[in-house]
Amino acid sequence: MSVARGDSPAVITGARLSGAERTDPFLDEPVDVHLADGFVVDIAPAGALPRRGAVLDAGGAWLIPGLWDHHVHVVQWALAAQREPLGGAASAAQAAAIIGAAAPLPDGRRVGTGFRDALWGDTPTLDLLDAATGDVPTYLINADVHSVWLNTAALRREGFEPDGFGILREDPAFEISRRLNAVPSEIADPLVEKMARDAATRGVVGLVDLDMAWNEEAWARRMSHGFDALRVEFGIYPEYLDRAIAEGLQTGDAARGAASDLARVGPLKVITDGSLGTRTAATSHAYPGDPHNHGMLTVDTATLVDLMTRATGVGIASAIHAIGDVANSAALDAFAATGAWGTIEHAQLVAHADIPRFARLGVGASVQPEHAIDDRDLTDSIWADQTAQPYPLRSLADSGANLLFGSDAPVSPLDPWSAMAAAVYRTRDGREPWQATQSVPADIALGASTHGGSASPARIEPGARADLVLCAHDPLTATDAQLRGMTVAATLLGGRLTHLA
Ligand SMILES: [Zn+2]
Repeated sequence: MSVARGDSPAVITGARLSGAERTDPFLDEPVDVHLADGFVVDIAPAGALPRRGAVLDAGGAWLIPGLWDHHVHVVQWALAAQREPLGGAASAAQAAAIIGAAAPLPDGRRVGTGFRDALWGDTPTLDLLDAATGDVPTYLINADVHSVWLNTAALRREGFEPDGFGILREDPAFEISRRLNAVPSEIADPLVEKMARDAATRGVVGLVDLDMAWNEEAWARRMSHGFDALRVEFGIYPEYLDRAIAEGLQTGDAARGAASDLARVGPLKVITDGSLGTRTAATSHAYPGDPHNHGMLTVDTATLVDLMTRATGVGIASAIHAIGDVANSAALDAFAATGAWGTIEHAQLVAHADIPRFARLGVGASVQPEHAIDDRDLTDSIWADQTAQPYPLRSLADSGANLLFGSDAPVSPLDPWSAMAAAVYRTRDGREPWQATQSVPADIALGASTHGGSASPARIEPGARADLVLCAHDPLTATDAQLRGMTVAATLLGGRLTHLA
């Protein structure tokens, strides 16, 4: 009996186990993994136990735990499919020309995404953008989402007074993103569905959704319309914390009103500083050529401690965005002061003395390895004078911190294989590895891409949830190219096939 997507096979035959099970008694020998009611019930040498029910023949492929992306902006990522990609723009003039030639969306606006102005030699100005885009309201979103470049028509439409540049940073930029992402659900939901199906083809079984919205309602609605491709843990932003507390939400609870328990309450998400590309990450040394700019802490300590105290008191975890070393110190201090549990998101520049504090305080390091590769030239220039450690993945792992990998999609594409490749090989496009001493072992990278993170990775064992992936190469020995191009033969979510090649 052959199986199709949507089926729940009773047994996966002829698979080889990888991941935390690599040193189990089976070694490279093929095994049968028996499943029932969404769980692994038995593992035995191939053919040793009778095979009943529907069979998924692994054909010697490698079986690993289902993959997670621990940091995604779901609607923003889904909408990126409709937006003009600007990652290739080498200058402001080129970005303006690309967006000027793009067809407006059905709502009459042009939206581009993914520009990296920190690498441009020229200055983005309002005149330049207006000349290329005319009266069509036009929005360009930075790759790091911490700034947006608008033409005069867009600034007027959004109620901002045009200045010489048309650039908005931090909170006003997030406000513009929120407005752009507030598209009707009949447009956004099919795009989210498509995004989730694509993620399943890469072996993804779950993600942490950090959209800046009241996410519970959106996920309950999507589930009621049949969304069943992924597990989701959704974040709660400070403006919604009172509502979450009043309504009794706790991290780990299933979303109320949802047709399944796939969507669950995640952490309180607080953004406490800016970013590298926008030169707003809070750092102990100034940015080059800008002696008074140490970035910015966007939330003061008292406010942060208050938010985390209230969340912790009702059973809500904390996910604190901190990119610069000053922000990371402040976030760790706040975890220490409040007894909160959860993660620091990004941890892109960490003082050497702060690295062991992650493990000591039990704070997870939710990091995006592809950002290190995307940002290598920026880091080498903009953070050249910093004394803290940039992208300290190996230092964190060696200190016992729990690493959790993510993409921050749309900042980088939602693909855990790219994250693993970047973490292990620290390169892309044939360049020399960047800061190779911070490369992490492949088993750490794989564990960090599963639900528990590197310190307590998802396992394949009797009693474990049958969130499983069959892939063409053993991730523990795969080359850079094999990881990035990994063929995923099948993805199972609670024993049900969400992808079958
Ligand atoms: Zn993010």
